[in-house]
Amino acid sequence: MYEIESVRAFEVLDSRGNPTVMAVVETPISYGRAAVPSGASTGAREALELRDGDDRYMGKGVMKAVENVNLRIGPELFGMDVRDQCGIDGMMIEMDGTEDKSELGANAILAVSMAASRAAAAAMDVPLYRYLGRPNDSVLPVPFMNVINGGEHAGNDLDIQEHMIAPVGAKTYKEGLRMGVEVYHTLATLLKERYGPAATNVGDEGGYAPPIDDPVEAFDVILEAIDRAGYTDEVKIAVDSAASEFYQNGSYNFGGRSLDSTDMIDFYERLIQEYPIISLEDPLAEDDWEGFLEITERIGDRVQIVGDDLFVSNPAIIERGIEEGICNALLLKVNQIGTLTEALDAATLSIKNGYGVMVSHRSGETCDDFIADLSVALSCGQIKTGAPARSERTAKYNRLLEIDDELGLSSKYGIY
Ligand code: PEP
Ligand code: MG
Repeated sequence: MYEIESVRAFEVLDSRGNPTVMAVVETPISYGRAAVPSGASTGAREALELRDGDDRYMGKGVMKAVENVNLRIGPELFGMDVRDQCGIDGMMIEMDGTEDKSELGANAILAVSMAASRAAAAAMDVPLYRYLGRPNDSVLPVPFMNVINGGEHAGNDLDIQEHMIAPVGAKTYKEGLRMGVEVYHTLATLLKERYGPAATNVGDEGGYAPPIDDPVEAFDVILEAIDRAGYTDEVKIAVDSAASEFYQNGSYNFGGRSLDSTDMIDFYERLIQEYPIISLEDPLAEDDWEGFLEITERIGDRVQIVGDDLFVSNPAIIERGIEEGICNALLLKVNQIGTLTEALDAATLSIKNGYGVMVSHRSGETCDDFIADLSVALSCGQIKTGAPARSERTAKYNRLLEIDDELGLSSKYGIY
C-alpha cells in the first residue's frame, strides 16, 4: 500500500519566468506533488541547482534534472516505503555521491524528497504539517512580510534586500496577517504621496521597489506606515541585508560608501536603537565570520541575528556556527541543502541549541505551499514568504490560514 510505484518530473515555470522542477510521487493509494523554488542572492555553499546551460530558456532549462528524476532516481526508489523519508533521501544522497548534490542536481533530489513526503502524508490520511511534525504541533508562525524590496530583488538603488514587517503583537495568525496587509496598503498610499505612483511598482517578492537610495529612509517610511495604520505597538521591523551581495575585497559598498565590518555593525547598532527592529538576517557577508562573531557579541542579546547565506541550511556549517557563538537563529531554506531530511536536521540542531528558526521561501517561487506546513510542523514560530501580495507569496500565507482554521481552538501563534 505504501510502496512507491511511480516517480516522475517535468519542467514548470517559477515566478520569475524561469524553469524549475516539479515532481510527482505515487503509491497505490496516494499522490504527492512538489515544485522547487530558486534563489537570486544565493549563498556560495548552497547545494547545486542543475541547469542545462544550452540554448533553451537562456541556458536555464532543467531538463537534465528532470531526466535524472525520470531515468535515475525513479527506478531506484521504486518499491520503497514512501513513509521512509530518511531512507528515500539517504538513497538519493548516496546515488548522487557529491558534497553539493551536483551529480543529480539538488533541484531533482529536493523535488522528489518533498513530493514523497506529500505522498506519504496523503497515504496516511494526515495533513502534511501533522506528518512532518508531532501530534500536538499547533504553533502558527509570525509572518515576516517583505514590504520594500531592494538588492538583487529589485531595480532600485537600495542596498538592503528585504525590509520586513512582523506583527509580533497580534493575538492570532489571522490577526497578524491582517495587520501586515493593512500596513502594506498604507505603505502604498504613503509611497505614492512621497515619491509618485511609480514607487509602488513591486520587486521579486511582491514588496514595493521605490526609488530610494538612503537605507535609513526606507525604515522611516515603513515606520510611518505602521503608525498610520494604527499598529505602533503590534508591528515590528525585520531586515535581510543579504550583505554578501555588496561585499567586495573585504569591504562593504553600502549607502554609497566603503565600510568595514565594524562600521557596518555601528550602523546596525544605531539602527536597532532608532527603529523597532527585532531581527537582522545576513547583516554581514557569508565569508566575514569574524564580523558575525563581533555583531553577535555586541548586539545579539538585543536582536535576532539570522544566518542565511552564512549557514545555507547545512547542519555541518550550523554546527560550526553554534560552536563559535555566531548568530542566534537559522534561516531555513530546504533547497539550500537539497533534502527534507537534512533540512529537518538543520532545524532540530538549531532548536536544540537555543537558536531561533525562520522558515523561508526563495525569491523565485511557485504556488507550492510546502513551507507553510513545514513551519507549523517545526513549531518554530517564524516564516518569511514575501509581501502579502502575488499568488506565489500568498499561497503560503493562505495555506497557513487554512491550517489555522483546521486547528481551531488549539491553534497558537508566535515565537514560542
Ligand atoms: C533571502 O536572501 O533570504 C532570499 C529569500 O532571497 P533568495 O531566494 O534570492 O536567496
Ligand atoms: Mg536572506
